[in-house]
Amino acid sequence: MKSEETNALVLGRFQPFHKGHLEVIRTIAKEWDSVTIGIGSAQFSHTYENPFTAGERHLMISKALRDDGMTNYSILPIVDVNRYAVWVAHVVSMVPPFKAVYSNNALTKRLFSEAGYEVRASPLFNRETYSGTEIRRRILIGEKWKHLVPKATAKVIEEIDGIQRLKDLCAGAAPLRYSNEPAEGSWEDH
Ligand code: ATP
Ligand code: MG
Repeated sequence: MKSEETNALVLGRFQPFHKGHLEVIRTIAKEWDSVTIGIGSAQFSHTYENPFTAGERHLMISKALRDDGMTNYSILPIVDVNRYAVWVAHVVSMVPPFKAVYSNNALTKRLFSEAGYEVRASPLFNRETYSGTEIRRRILIGEKWKHLVPKATAKVIEEIDGIQRLKDLCAGAAPLRYSNEPAEGSWEDH
């Protein structure tokens, strides 16, 4: 499919969507006609590392980008295929044509560049705190976290009782996990 419009692809798990993600997408959206945001590991939810469903993450992103006044984006869930050799083809089959992919993950970068795609690293903003891992940790232990996410993300988390969900997931000896959950960061960066 040919298109004169330029589109860039951004991949992440967005557990949850935070201000670092917003800043990256804002920057990319200025450079390209449109941005496709792929919600990775879309099949996972209700685990400590992946607490929110793809639908909940979609809401966080769409509401935050709408509040930001952005219109040139689309958001698509992408479930994992646990075969890296076919992962790029899988992603490509799920999203509109794109000219470049943005990621900081070494494996993602390698797989897309081996497949002939232009790969760009996105600049990191305030990475110590604009981090999904850090935000989940703060929610769990009751430390301040709302200033690290767009207002829309905090609202969605509140509406779905997400704070209690995270705490419940971690109650007891070990966090709930699916046995086939990929190791942390298996395809996305840390
Ligand atoms: P986790 O700690 O759960 O892995 P994360 O903050 O790394 O969460 P991801 O969904 O894994 O978020 O990341 C998606 C993409 O967003 C990655 O390419 C990542 O490099 C980028 N990203 C994450 N945090 C920032 C940030 N603070 N500034 C810029 N880009 C970021
Ligand atoms: Mg990460």
